[in-house]
Amino acid sequence: MCQDKHHEQAGFTQQAQDRGDGATSAPAAQIAELVTANHILYDQGVLDAFGHVSVRHADDPERFLLARNMAPGLVQAGDIVEFDLDGNPYNAAGRAIYLERFIHSEIYKARPDVVAVVHSHSPSVVPFSVSTTSPLRATCHMAGFIGLAAPVFEIRDHAGEASSLLITNQELGQALAGSLGERSLVLMRGHGSTVVADSLRRAVYRAVYTELNAQIQSAAQQLGEVTFLSEGEIAETVRVIETQVVRAWDFWSIKAGATARALMQQQAQLG
Ligand code: MN
Repeated sequence: MCQDKHHEQAGFTQQAQDRGDGATSAPAAQIAELVTANHILYDQGVLDAFGHVSVRHADDPERFLLARNMAPGLVQAGDIVEFDLDGNPYNAAGRAIYLERFIHSEIYKARPDVVAVVHSHSPSVVPFSVSTTSPLRATCHMAGFIGLAAPVFEIRDHAGEASSLLITNQELGQALAGSLGERSLVLMRGHGSTVVADSLRRAVYRAVYTELNAQIQSAAQQLGEVTFLSEGEIAETVRVIETQVVRAWDFWSIKAGATARALMQQQAQLG
């Protein structure tokens, strides 16, 4: 029975080839923060059943932490798996892991400055990933990190004309990291976006404001011509406003905690 279930899932998940490293070695506080990040990103409408958030291991820069293959809104501490920078799990213990973990592993490899990565399909961003005329741009002061024009990763250039659009191996992860370059955000054509930062809280903040900026920009462009942030405003808003990230984190985590508890209760009743 169990094997049938795994077989059925094979197209959508991947069974872990475990490195047998036992339980996670990351500090409990870091794992708790990653659980909270999952809940906030669900509660704020960035992640749904899909998408994921990771953080570089606090004690080992060659590892990162990411939930097992599951809906982010339901993630608990015991669901966090540790990976190396090739995307191999240390302690998945047979649990299914995300197909697109190579987004995270290859960005951590290419960008030593990156501490956290959020990959999402947040719905207001996707139109900008397919538009050939309107790049996503920093439109409001909270989203200076988007810059003058977010790059769009075209997977056809690397995976041909008939791919699933998913980043399912190291080569595609490397190509995506190449599109990201030294920036904070890359859109993925017909798929979503990936945002990075030098802390988990800042990555969560940026993921939320990537979605909000996309909503604002779409609304503004429907009105007609738009004035975007200048290069100088982009630099200054990032410098000043991103010192305030903790205010958003503290508020969002209270709200997300309430949502997560309600979800757990529902799940227990169904269970
Ligand atoms: Mn995806």
